[in-house]
Amino acid sequence: MGRVYTEIGGNSTTIMSAIASNLQAVKARIAEAARAAGRTPESIELLAVSKTWPLACVLEAAEAGQRAFGENYVQEGTDKAIATVDRQLSWHFIGPLQSNKTRLVAEHFDWVHSIERLKIAERLSAQRPATLAPLNVCVQINVSGEASKSGCAPDEALALCQAIATLPKLQLRGLMAIPEPADDFAAQRAPLRQLREIYEYIRAAGLPLDTLSMGMSHDLEAAVAEGATIVRIGTAIFGERNYA
Ligand SMILES: *Cc1c(COP(=O)(O)O)cnc(C)c1O
Repeated sequence: MGRVYTEIGGNSTTIMSAIASNLQAVKARIAEAARAAGRTPESIELLAVSKTWPLACVLEAAEAGQRAFGENYVQEGTDKAIATVDRQLSWHFIGPLQSNKTRLVAEHFDWVHSIERLKIAERLSAQRPATLAPLNVCVQINVSGEASKSGCAPDEALALCQAIATLPKLQLRGLMAIPEPADDFAAQRAPLRQLREIYEYIRAAGLPLDTLSMGMSHDLEAAVAEGATIVRIGTAIFGERNYA
């Protein structure tokens, strides 16, 4: 990595990697947002989104105590999951998933946040190895202002969740969304609140959801205010991505 900063305090010199110090800063943001919302920081899990970053960055974060990692691309994420199989990390698939790529995800990931249709869920359940625990899944919802235009329509979410809940090798955990970036706190909160309301509606219908996957580097505070239980943070931990 080579991205190291030095902190000099009193007589001792502590050298901490940029990733380790960024992780601390993100955890402080989560703790402060939780406090402001009257929640405990432990009720919010930090998912480190390591897409596009080399394995060395994952290992650096893991050395700093980070356990859960998110990836958007099947082959890249699978390679990292295989390379770290002895480290007790958990791997979350959070990107668009085509039906011809489900097998690798079923075999190498612990979670999928981006289920938007039943066919993909059925394939993941059928391809999940019998030796592994059920795959944890969230349904991605196309809330108003969805950045990617992907996700299940809000009025189809309950039926999709009910169908997924019957699949033997999936554990339906909750909902996920990727709202369009907004600068204003109130504008950030609106789509996140919509996701929480859909979540509460589905719980009221009898499905035991426990996961609201929402909040990225720019809207972490708004997501915690609206009840996020997993925040997915990339840039604030690893830096700006370079897709070139
Ligand atoms: C890339 C990505 C993130 C992380 O976004 P940052 O803005 O870098 O924190 C979170 N969720 C999904 C689905 C992503 O694709």
